[in-house]
Amino acid sequence: MSREALDVKALRYLREGRLRVVLVDGASIAARVRGTDTEHVAGYERGGWYCDCEAHLHGRRCLHLAALQLVTAPPAQQARSPARRHSA
Ligand SMILES: [Zn+2]
Repeated sequence: MSREALDVKALRYLREGRLRVVLVDGASIAARVRGTDTEHVAGYERGGWYCDCEAHLHGRRCLHLAALQLVTAPPAQQARSPARRHSA
């Protein structure tokens, strides 16, 4: 599956309300993504993304994380690029 097709599908998942973010804090993200017939648990914890689906298990970029990454940024990334102060 090409990356573009994955992103298009991820957008569709968002549009259809299949992604439900259940936790976002300074260190972790947790979400539930409704697939065709299974609900997957995906998120970010201790410096890495995780998902319980088959694709992710085999090291591929999965649709569930693609959808989640459209709406969240991992805490580490936020820390790496702190908001710059601009004088008004
Ligand atoms: Zn997945």
